[in-house]
Order: sequence, then structure tokens, then C-alpha cells
Amino acid sequence: MGKLALKDLNPQQRAAVTAPDGPALVLAGPGSGKTRVLTYRVAWLTLERSVPPGQVMAVTFTNKAAREMRERLQHLLGHARAGSLTLGTFHATCARILRREAKVAGIPRDYVIFDADDQRTLVRQVLRELDIDVKQYRPTAVHGAISRAKNELIPPEAYQPSSYFGEIVRRVYERYQERLRANGGLDFDDLLVETVRLFREHPEVLGRYQERYLHALVDEFQDTNMAQYILLRQLAARHRNLFAVADEDQSIYRWRGADYRNITRLREDYPDLAVYLLEQNYRSTQTILDAAQAIIRRNPNRTEKRLFTRRGTGLKVTVHEAYDQDEEARFVVNTIAELTLQGKARPGECAVMYRTNAQSRALEEAFLRAGLPYRLVGATRFYARREIKDLIAFLRLIHNPTDATSLTRIINIPPRGIGKRTLLALEEAARARGVPLWQIVEEVGTHQDTPLLGGRAQGAVTRLYRMVRGWIEAREGATVVQLMDQVLAETGYEAYLRDGTEEGDDRWNNVQELRAVAAEYAGLTLTDFLADVALVSDVDNLADGVDAPTLLTLHSAKGLEFPVVFITGLEEGLLPHSRSLDDPESLAEERRLMYVGITRARDRLYLTYAFRRVRYATSEPNAPSRFLEALPPHLTEGSRIRSGKRRVEQAIAWTTSWTPTATPSFTTGDRVMHRVFGRGVVLESQARGDDEEVTVAFETAGLKRIMGSYLTPAD
Ligand code: ATP
Ligand code: MG
Repeated sequence: MGKLALKDLNPQQRAAVTAPDGPALVLAGPGSGKTRVLTYRVAWLTLERSVPPGQVMAVTFTNKAAREMRERLQHLLGHARAGSLTLGTFHATCARILRREAKVAGIPRDYVIFDADDQRTLVRQVLRELDIDVKQYRPTAVHGAISRAKNELIPPEAYQPSSYFGEIVRRVYERYQERLRANGGLDFDDLLVETVRLFREHPEVLGRYQERYLHALVDEFQDTNMAQYILLRQLAARHRNLFAVADEDQSIYRWRGADYRNITRLREDYPDLAVYLLEQNYRSTQTILDAAQAIIRRNPNRTEKRLFTRRGTGLKVTVHEAYDQDEEARFVVNTIAELTLQGKARPGECAVMYRTNAQSRALEEAFLRAGLPYRLVGATRFYARREIKDLIAFLRLIHNPTDATSLTRIINIPPRGIGKRTLLALEEAARARGVPLWQIVEEVGTHQDTPLLGGRAQGAVTRLYRMVRGWIEAREGATVVQLMDQVLAETGYEAYLRDGTEEGDDRWNNVQELRAVAAEYAGLTLTDFLADVALVSDVDNLADGVDAPTLLTLHSAKGLEFPVVFITGLEEGLLPHSRSLDDPESLAEERRLMYVGITRARDRLYLTYAFRRVRYATSEPNAPSRFLEALPPHLTEGSRIRSGKRRVEQAIAWTTSWTPTATPSFTTGDRVMHRVFGRGVVLESQARGDDEEVTVAFETAGLKRIMGSYLTPAD
């Protein structure tokens, strides 16, 4: 069929790809080629139906998914055509629309995007301002409630509290929104809300976009929220070419306002909706699919879908019971090392998943001890690091000096003699006169005789003002990297960070890393750079091209696939999560989450749990997850779930093997060899479970603590 190889698709997929104009929904299970169908349809529309690429919009769930889709389309369409597609996450797409229509939308063109951290900081500030106890009303919880309201398109004035907590939320929501506006800021949710509002209030603007986008396509439709759904409906109202791809069983973002009932809404709103079903799974072995179905089948109110594969039965699912989280982590690392050594998988083909971010700690440690590299998604988000936030605050200030959050962040970083009291006086003056904090700084900085501050403080503020003023003036003719360099040089930031400790060097490396990110794009404007930075979600920390296992939460694994998958922490209270145990709706979501995790695996699946796990500083025995019990025994191998006496006996056996019984095989002075670190000398050795922990002075790599099983004697 012409330029596009439709032979790469099965008949059902082909029918969906070449669907006639009008609303369409592809409903299918994991690994059935939904994302592939969506990508091919974009290519088909452009190549076979001659739709100009500039008139096609495709929305995906994460930046990573959007990038992958763009790459595939570059392959199918060539760079030029792929470049003119509107392709991105909902948030990125809305951010661009708002930037373009800022004037009509009544928001500053240079608006700042408040990321998750900024949002929490602002909520905390508001709680303090309103004299609300932050211990009793956690900023995260309050912000979560505000976010849900926004995603339902409920503005502060229409918020109907149904409890005392709700009343607190209402008050904070109102003030939070005022503060955002005063800072020239929008939070993530505002990007959607403001776009919907813009389209509602300005039909002529909406008309232009409706005219432009002949086709709108959306992946992972089951995880859209109300605001996103309305937005799609607005955009598709004229041409009605809405193409959605979904799997109800993979809806895992209810807590963020996602609503899989949007699938029902779509059917109701478009009675002529053409529905396509895909049945063949191309990703996993039949054993993995059967395991996944054994879990999801327990959810009520779902349409049973049969998943079949031509990939054969495959290997059994390995279930492993560990003594505690450290032993569990060692099992994961050892298994990956073994698979790699035996040539069965490359490290980069393995993924380790968990329910909560905190679980990554033990895993990371095990990888570090083994001297094996890994990639971590989430937890220590690069953009959440202090030094990165500082540097971005400087840039945001250059971009928009009225951004008081950024200004307060860096006003005394590196320390420049603007203490707490000075800042308070400045803030007080700004509040009293209802002007931005920056204006007060400007007044102090230009009228040397302002009586507001004492002489020394006034000098310090003046120096800061002149420095920032200089950057703002330099902005026009400078690249982002040049601006960054100027900021770093004039603030003396390097000397401030590099305090001679290893941590200081690491932090400075992070700064260099951010500089490298900015240097990657020639012609990048400061505005675009800041928008990109604000929009990188956790999953974007996945450094492509490094051959190392990926550590990630089940939530961020959505849409991805790996030959080898470990799902760890299969314990009651963890997976399913304790918060879900007495709410059937939440429990159903936990099952879907488990289902998403299992169906990421192509060939090998390992499910692990620990007998004891340290949580909140206490160590408690755990019951294995009900999800393990739901698996038919013929699909699994390895430790079966023990109960009663057997578990107790096993626990005693573990505890005794924990005490150093085996004599360490390495002693002080031994010469050893490590695959990555090379030669070294043993300084100290201590038994750890069935292994030993050895401190080694390596010739080039310095001092490291390594598990003995990763060392070989050297002469
Ligand atoms: P998920 O629900 O997990 O997002 P999906 O339905 O989007 O899954 P894809 O990621 O599009 O599925 O496809 C799963 C895998 O199967 C991919 O590796 C894809 O390249 C492959 N695949 C899909 N269709 C075919 C086909 N017709 N022939 C060969 N491989 C295919
Ligand atoms: Mg997909």
C-alpha cells in the first residue's frame, strides 16, 4: 500500500489504522499494538490521505512516550514532515497554546510554570499565612484536593466543601490561586484549565484551532481526566475526527483525577463512534499473559478480554520469598548479574518495579554494593535537586522578575548579606502596597535613600538588584548557556557549592549537567527552555543508551516494555497498598497497577516479597500479597507462599544464617579484582547474610564497599 508498509500490521490493526473519518475508539489489552496503530494512523493520514502534518495533533501520556513516537514517525515520514506534527503531552500542548494566546487568555506571556515542588512550597506558604497547622493539614494532601478540583474544572469560588477538611481546602485554594497569579505563575493543572477556559470564553480562538486540527489522536485515553476530556471534545467539535486508544484495565491514575468512565462518555457523546478491538498480543509469552489475566479477572464490572500470543508458553513466573528488603534486593541484583553472565539478557533489558519510591533505597544500595550501574526513574529527581532548583530560579527571575517564589529562593544564595529580617521587611513592604516583591527590590536598588533598610542591608540588596538587572539586559543577545555562565560567574556559585566535600563536587556536576542540557539545543530561547524544564516528568530521567537496568515505580512503567521484569515488595499493605485495603475502588486500581506491571514483561517475570520489611523505622513481618495467591500454581516456580509453622521455621533458619557463621573468605591485605573497579587491596571484611561485605582500596577507583561475591582473588 504505497509508501507506508501496512503489511507490518495484522488485519484488525490495519482496519483501525485506515478507519474512515469520524470518531473512532481502539479498545484493546496491553501489548496488542495500540500505540503502534496510533503511530501508523498518523503516518497513514499524512502519506495516503495527504493531510498536512501541521493539521494533525497526537497526544500521549509522558514526554518519553511522545519522544518515542516522534522518533518512529521521523522514520516513517522523514524529519521535515514529522517536525510539523503537533505531538506531545496534554500539558506541553496546552502550554504552547497558552503562550501563543496569552493576550486573549489574560495571562502574562512570560508566565512561569510551577512544578510539583513549587506547588507544594506555595501551599505551605499559604497554610502558614492563614495560620493553619501544616502538621494537621499536610500540604501534599491539601494540594491534592486542589488539583482534583481543578481537573474537574471547579474554580475556587464554586468549590463546595463537604467537610471541615474541605473548608480548609476551599480557603487555601482561593489564596493559592491569588498567589499564583501574583507571581505570574500557572501550575500544571492550570495549563489544562486555562486552555479549556480560553476556548470556552473565546469561540473565535477555539474556531481557529478547530479549523487547524483536522485530526486529533490520543493514546492511553483511559487515563484522561475531566479537563482533558473536555479539551478533546472542544477541539474535535468541528471535524469530529477524534481517534482514541484505550484499555480500561490499565487505568492507574484515578488518584490524579483520571476517570476511565471517559470511555463511556465518549460512546455517549459520539453515538456514531467506530470501535475497533485488537486481540493478539505481540509482547509477552502466554504464561505472562495468563498470570496477568488471573489478577485482573478478579475486578468487578469489566468486560472480559481474551489475550493470546503466538510467542508460545515461555518460562514460568519465578516467585521469590526473601528474608528482608536487603536480601530481596540482593536476589534481584544477583539474578540480573547471572542472566547477563549467561548471555540471556543485557542489563538494559531488565526493569525492577516497585509500588512506592522509598523502596528504591534498598535496591540502589544493592546495585552500588555490587558495583553495577543502574538507572533510577523518580526518587532523586534531577530537577528536584537543590542546586538545579537554584539555577533555574535565577533563570526564571531573568525571565520574569515578578516571580516572587524564585526571587525569595535565591535572594540570599550564595549568602550575600540579605538576612531573614531584611527579606521580611521587603516582603512586608510589597504586601502593604500590593506590588510585586521585585518592585521593592528595584526601588531599594535605584533610590539609594530609601529608609526601608539599614545601610548594610541596602547595599546588599542594591548589589543583587544591579546583578539581576544586568542579566535581564543581557538576555536579548545571549543564549541560555551564556546566561547560565554569566549567572554562575557573577554569583560565585561554583565556589559556594564546591566546599571540598564529595557532595559539593557531585552538586557541581549536576550544574554542569543542566548546562549540557541547555547546550544541546541551538537557538533555544529562555522561555522554551524553562517550559521544557518545568514539564519533564519523572520518567524522562531515563537516560537512553546506557546499558543498565531500570528502577522505576509501577506507575511510571506504563506503556513501556522490557524482556525481563522484576516486581518487588509483593506484600499486603504495600502491593496492594495499605490505603486501598478497605476501599473496593482503590483495591481494583491496585489490581490494575499489578496488571500493568506484569504486562510490561516480554520473556521473564520475577515476583518477589520479603518476610520482614523495615517501614517507618520499624520492622514488621509481612503477609505475602493476595495477588500472589491469585496466581494459578502451574504458572509459577520458586518459593511458594508458606503459611503458619513453615514460615516460622523458615524465619528461624534465616535469622541464624544471618549471624556470621561462615568465615569470611577475604581478609585484610588480600589482593582482589573487580570487573568494573579493577585491582585493589582488602581493608576489612564482614559477614552479611550468605555473603560478606568487603571494604576495598582500589588502585584507581578509591575506597569502595563491595559484596564479596563480586570480587575475585588476584595475585
Ligand atoms: P500498552 O497497552 O502496554 O501500551 P500497546 O497496545 O500500546 O501496549 P504496543 O506498544 O503498540 O502495544 O506494541 C507492543 C509490542 O508489539 C511492540 O514491541 C510492538 O512493536 C509490537 N507489535 C505490535 N503490533 C505488531 C505487529 N503487527 N507485528 C509485529 N509486532 C507488533
Ligand atoms: Mg501503548
